[in-house]
Amino acid sequence: MSVAEFMAVALFDPQDGYYARHVRLGADGDFLTAPEISQMFGECVGLWCAQAWFDLGSPAPLQLVELGPGSGALAADLWRAAAVAPGFRDALALTLVEPSAPLRAVQGARLRGARVAWADTLEAAPAGPTIVLANEVLDCLPIRQIVQTGAGWRERVLGLDAEGALAFGLGPPVDTMSVPEKLRDAPPGAVFEVCPALEAVIAGVAERLCAHGGHALFIDYGAAEPSLGDSLQAVRARTKESPLAAPGLADLTAHVDFAAVASAARSAGLHVHGPVAQGAWLRALGIEARTAALARAQPHKADVIARQRSRLVDDDAMGALFKVICLSAPGQPPPPGFDS
Ligand code: SAH
Repeated sequence: MSVAEFMAVALFDPQDGYYARHVRLGADGDFLTAPEISQMFGECVGLWCAQAWFDLGSPAPLQLVELGPGSGALAADLWRAAAVAPGFRDALALTLVEPSAPLRAVQGARLRGARVAWADTLEAAPAGPTIVLANEVLDCLPIRQIVQTGAGWRERVLGLDAEGALAFGLGPPVDTMSVPEKLRDAPPGAVFEVCPALEAVIAGVAERLCAHGGHALFIDYGAAEPSLGDSLQAVRARTKESPLAAPGLADLTAHVDFAAVASAARSAGLHVHGPVAQGAWLRALGIEARTAALARAQPHKADVIARQRSRLVDDDAMGALFKVICLSAPGQPPPPGFDS
């Protein structure tokens, strides 16, 4: 099977898939995402939403739809931060796109007291002016890997070796046109990754935004330009392991190709802002002031709060590898936090 088929089964198989059955989130889970590191992340995203809502002319209701909300931490922190913008929280119709019943229960507990609804898909969320949010969702969309053999590009596949263990191998030749022109002369062994599911996700976002207006904010890790490299990684209990070690029991992700996101968005009729580095974006939204305010309120935790800020914004932590891209319906005011 292709790497994309393997990822789809390992993550989403209804019986044995990681996100369907075995996902472990939060402080003692398998992986730690930005909203789990600090409340400041969700608060900054919440203030971004409030400013974007205001710039859109304060539509009420505003459909705020989060894809892949995980533990609900981002939604809970943004709901709390939304209270500081007059009228914003009253206008908010918050929908979490979460097919898994156990995860809906986790999110419901985290969001107790908030006005929130769930949907199985983005299409099923109520119509109207919308902000779509997704943090670390695109990185779990299945990718294909295409390998330069020295005699043309071939599909990377999985099968069983002589001992009956899962192993990588080379599959059928792949049309060179699948690889961006400037990367085609890569040396033997070079890997190029393609995400076939990306187009459908972006098309769904575009359909909604072009019909009703609004923005979509995707935050993830990956490169701004098309690049080579095998980025498929498995993480279990915060430790990297081979993607073949325990399919279904480990989180599997790959770098997001932001150039491909931008290109799919433009083809679908959206305007693209960014990507910008997460560190610069959080600074533009005032994370330094928020760090100082939290430290003043809890002086005994000032060191912890400073370390959390560093993890989110420093270039050698998440600040540079993680990027933020905003896709907007035509004719919308420019979103906050992006220079253009
Ligand atoms: N956003 C959370 C969780 C990230 S884990 C956080 O930042 O902590 C990735 C989540 O995205 C999982 O819950 C997974 O089920 C979900 N997901 C994967 N593909 C998706 C898709 N196409 N649409 C919506 N959610 C998706």
